[in-house]
Amino acid sequence: MSKRSHATIRRSRAKANRLRFLVTAGPTREPIDPVRFISNRSSGRMGYAVASRALARGHAVVLVTGPVSLEPPAGAEVLRVETASQMNRAVQAAFRRSDCLVMAAAVADYAPANPSKRKIKKSRDTVSLTLRKNPDIVAAAAARKGPRIVVGFAVETESLLENARRKLARKGLDLIVANDAGAFDSGVSTVHFLSPDGSCVAYRNRRKTDTAEALVRWVETACALRRAGRVRAGR
Ligand code: C5P
Repeated sequence: MSKRSHATIRRSRAKANRLRFLVTAGPTREPIDPVRFISNRSSGRMGYAVASRALARGHAVVLVTGPVSLEPPAGAEVLRVETASQMNRAVQAAFRRSDCLVMAAAVADYAPANPSKRKIKKSRDTVSLTLRKNPDIVAAAAARKGPRIVVGFAVETESLLENARRKLARKGLDLIVANDAGAFDSGVSTVHFLSPDGSCVAYRNRRKTDTAEALVRWVETACALRRAGRVRAGR
């Protein structure tokens, strides 16, 4: 066979294996008033690393990102959001045209129920905020996932694996990446990949870029098995 036909075959194989990744990253910000918000310590590094590795492996990436100080990887379609509601709308809309969702964002669990339109004055000694639960973005996507692969993350300060397993089942995920809380704002983390068949794979003290590579490969295999009509088992 000619060099040209080899190249054509390689290109069409690569195209057939090309997945559409939907990745979320960073924190959300929930306004209290026009100048204040509730947020968390997420740096966005994990989600950005997943987006970057997926692109490097030839996939298409939509990156829905909360406010972070990182430069998005070249080639990603970037959707910038602030609040959990905005992230929810962006994710649910893009999910339809995706093969997988990697929900690495640290979505604020609660938002102020009635954010003030004006800056709250410093008059009283104590103030109370009523918080309302945000929509569970990944659970809503997983509930209508069809053949898509849905991956969530869990950060816990105690009983990490036990809580992560519960979350995996409750949210209907295909994989949960369990992180200890030290992973926040750090380039290195110890993670466990937990899947519904009970398998648990540990990656200890790994750079987030290495964990991201392992995760992208996991998703590739899971999508290939699902396309072939089989359920992903183990690693
Ligand atoms: O419930 P918890 O926040 O611990 O779950 C973490 C996982 O769920 C993460 O993948 C996070 O992105 C996702 N999540 C979500 N919507 C929320 C809260 C968390 O999609 N409101």
